[in-house]
Amino acid sequence: AVDAALLAGVLMRTAEQPNASDVVNYAPFTLLPSAVPRALFEQACAVQQDFNLLVDAVSQNKEFLEQTLASTIKVDDFTARLFRIYMQVLEEGLAQTVFLGINRSDYMFDCGLDGTAALRQIEINTIAASFGGLTSRTADVHRLVLKVLGKTEEASQLLPNNPAKGLALGIAKAWELYGSQRAVVMFLVEEIQRNIFDQRCVENELWNRNIRVVRKRFRDVFEQGSLDASRRLYMDGQEVAVVYYREGYVPQIYDEQSWEARLLLERSRAVKCPDIATQLAGTKKVQQELSRPGTLEQLLPGHPQAIARIRATFAGLYSLDEGEEGDRIAATAIADPDRFVLKPQREGGGNNLYGEELREVLEKIKDSPERTSYILMDKIKPQPALNYLLRAHSPLQVSECVSELGIFGVYVRQGRELVLNQAAGHLLRTKAVEHADGGVAAGVAVLDTPFLV
Ligand code: ADP
Ligand code: MG
Repeated sequence: AVDAALLAGVLMRTAEQPNASDVVNYAPFTLLPSAVPRALFEQACAVQQDFNLLVDAVSQNKEFLEQTLASTIKVDDFTARLFRIYMQVLEEGLAQTVFLGINRSDYMFDCGLDGTAALRQIEINTIAASFGGLTSRTADVHRLVLKVLGKTEEASQLLPNNPAKGLALGIAKAWELYGSQRAVVMFLVEEIQRNIFDQRCVENELWNRNIRVVRKRFRDVFEQGSLDASRRLYMDGQEVAVVYYREGYVPQIYDEQSWEARLLLERSRAVKCPDIATQLAGTKKVQQELSRPGTLEQLLPGHPQAIARIRATFAGLYSLDEGEEGDRIAATAIADPDRFVLKPQREGGGNNLYGEELREVLEKIKDSPERTSYILMDKIKPQPALNYLLRAHSPLQVSECVSELGIFGVYVRQGRELVLNQAAGHLLRTKAVEHADGGVAAGVAVLDTPFLV
């Protein structure tokens, strides 16, 4: 299986040499595909265009973003800083006219008391949603493993899946609408680039369409970036049509120069994926407010069926804003912490609080404004299943595992008109049950393939 993974390109750079491709290893993956209920998989695919519509609507609704994030930005400096850039570019007037959204909506299968599973959204990632490239290659590995095990029929049932192609289609459409043959697509990448091969899958799809791609970091933008009089973005004289962020979602990477670079990008005419409004639309606070009765109706008037499909995936979400409602739910969570997850406004895994730790933290902040930087969510409890997690340099062992299904979405808007809105494939990530939190990049979950049952 490991040889098959290397051969198929399920690759990552190593922790020791994260910026060199001389030595690479396989990205962690499960030995076997995991069972996923077909009806829930189809439900997740079917609601993706609705979520694209919703994220796009939130990103265009200044009043909603302002109201929703008002309490959060008083206590969360990172969200506040993003919000300041958002207001600044709106005041200046947007130069950007074409908008590109690439998101991934993540779900777990909540096991009810009667044993039936329900689709529950964990979160929607509106910036730097990863593994759209490696996931299609993982399926090739699982197909081979099943054949080796004599399960040829099952191997043929694994679904076709190529999110990288769908994401590239969106980027190419945005590039085309931007309307300059000479302009490039810029991938904004991290200083440490272990997951480069996942990004290269999307990049290669663009080269196949004869679209030029450059890879730059925030500090390159600070040093080489400039705007002309009509706010076209140039990197050392090279015009940029689309900026695809695979970076920029954690506070630690932003020094003052990076913030300046971010502002330059946001002020520009280039298509940002995502623009800063869409990044804000992906915050946990927005997710929680969306679950309030009446909010979806206000954001998506005239779309009752989309609203019903979206709402059917929501888990219980609770505001910790100051006041009676927040006091009550904080007390409930302190009394019964295993029912909930406490989430700050952070991305990338490893930030949420569970169990005793949740109780301690909430106990400490329950009477301070700091609590409004968090939200509470019902804890989803999926039915575990056995699998082997293959990880370089780790012993092979069978583990009780739970899976998280992600559906990629892509959309392009020109002015007010949505010209593309699609689901673009799926990702399954699986982790051992003893880990409450964490994705693949965080070293907890591994790549998997759904086997529909
Ligand atoms: P991040 O932005 O850090 O990815 P998530 O909301 O996706 O934050 O949470 C990280 C991980 O924590 C998820 O991948 C999932 O494993 C776990 N998790 C998050 N919310 C819940 C929940 N409500 N119930 C159970 N597990 C959860
Ligand atoms: Mg997540």
